[in-house]
Amino acid sequence: MSESREYIDGPRAEFAAAVERMKEELAVCRQARSEADLAARHFQAIFDECPLSLWEVDVSAVKERFKALRQSGVQDFRSFFDNHREEVTRCARLARIVDMNKASLDMFGAMSKDQLYEVGRVYAGPTWQAFKNTLATHAQGGTLGDLETMYRDLQGSTRHILLQWSEIPDQREDRVLVSILDITERKRVEQAVQRAKEEWEFTFDAVPDLVAIIDNDYRICRANKAMAARLGMTAQEVVGRFCHDLVHGSDRPPDYCPHLAYLKDGLEHTREVLEERLGGHYMVTVSPVYDSEGGLIGSVHVARDVTETKKSEQEREALIRDLQISKEELERLSLTDGLTGVFNRRYLEAGLEGEWRRAGRENCPLSLVMLDIDFFKLYNDTYGHPAGDECLRRVALVVNDALRRPGDFVARYGGEEFVCVLPRTDSTGAMEVAEILRTRVSDLNIAHSSSPVLDCVTISLGLATVAPGANASIQGLIAAADGALYAAKRAGRNRSRAASERPPNF
Ligand code: GH3
Ligand code: MG
Ligand code: MG
Repeated sequence: MSESREYIDGPRAEFAAAVERMKEELAVCRQARSEADLAARHFQAIFDECPLSLWEVDVSAVKERFKALRQSGVQDFRSFFDNHREEVTRCARLARIVDMNKASLDMFGAMSKDQLYEVGRVYAGPTWQAFKNTLATHAQGGTLGDLETMYRDLQGSTRHILLQWSEIPDQREDRVLVSILDITERKRVEQAVQRAKEEWEFTFDAVPDLVAIIDNDYRICRANKAMAARLGMTAQEVVGRFCHDLVHGSDRPPDYCPHLAYLKDGLEHTREVLEERLGGHYMVTVSPVYDSEGGLIGSVHVARDVTETKKSEQEREALIRDLQISKEELERLSLTDGLTGVFNRRYLEAGLEGEWRRAGRENCPLSLVMLDIDFFKLYNDTYGHPAGDECLRRVALVVNDALRRPGDFVARYGGEEFVCVLPRTDSTGAMEVAEILRTRVSDLNIAHSSSPVLDCVTISLGLATVAPGANASIQGLIAAADGALYAAKRAGRNRSRAASERPPNF
């Protein structure tokens, strides 16, 4: 009985144990499911709240397409996609976006996920090449890396993005997680920096002056094209070399180096230097360069070639010196009378013109005294021509010496006739001067035995004065003086006559 009871109890107990085991397994299953649910919810929460744009993409159809292509004999997907560009777009459309997080909506300016599913259909975007490479890598089982590409958001502006594909762990292998980082701003800054750098480099190299940046150890950190070319090197070859080594071939900078002066006081210095190796004179300006913390790290050298300027300056100076000599010589020769040394008629015309204008400006009188040696023909006849010349010289000299006031001058008018110009002198003053001249000449006591006037050389003088505001001309003034001289001759010679005493056309 007990045996049969055991026999009956045996299966029941087994059954009960099995039920217990089932219950336990069910509990484990429940536990696992709730943990899985928790994990999924946890993952979903992370997915949704992540500030990075995240997309879950089902690529099973893409993989099917890869498989079909492989079966049809495609081995090199990269060249296959190159030859079948439409396949790239086709694969892109096969990738099905399953989910995306809130950050994605913000990044692309979408109101709902549906809008982005639309965008996703054409996400080959403008950078087809980059997307093609990613697809090819994926098709050939390669590891997907970062992909820098561009995307147009729903407002139509182009965004630069960094895209990364990764397998979702513990998920079906046909799902990938795509993370997208908006690098538009970073790109903009990078491009602006690059542009600024290029512009700076362009300017640096376009400057015709020799420019170099030199550190505090005299090493060249950078040199522009002009500087390198003058040294017969490339800009790269110059970098790192000692400035004094390249420019002066010495192991230390010369005492006049403006960089030395800058190192002493940290200030800007400009010096004109003769650099044999650079082939000339340079005006070098050295300006301090600071780092971001304000520390002095070197200097910018700007060397302007002033060789030509210097040369032409020197040439000009030499020319001026030569010219001055020859000018003085020329002037002396062309404006003075060779025999007597007093001014010639050419000078008289120019000088009288100037004094005439000045008299008008200053509202002053101007007088002329025309003088002529009496019976000079007879003198020549008596003493000979050379003696006549000597007589002329002595008369000219004594007249010249007698004119003391500034502005007064005497010029040989022709033959044995001279004209004295007396600025700021009225007719009374002119008469005084004329009488002095007449006396001085007769006081020379040059023997003139054949003269009917005296037994020495005498002169006759004619004066003319133009009063301020008078309606007159230079020619009229000369004619008046000439007329007065003629009157003096007529009156017996060895005397002075003023034009006013007789009409000029007397
Ligand atoms: P008057 O008193 O009227 O002036 O008589 P004049 O003899 O001085 O006048 P005239 O015009 O008849 O003669 C001027 C002379 O002056 C004639 C000329 O040979 C002479 N003469 C002119 N120039 C020179 C010169 O450069 N050297 C010399 N030696 N004689 C000169
Ligand atoms: Mg005469
Ligand atoms: Mg004469």
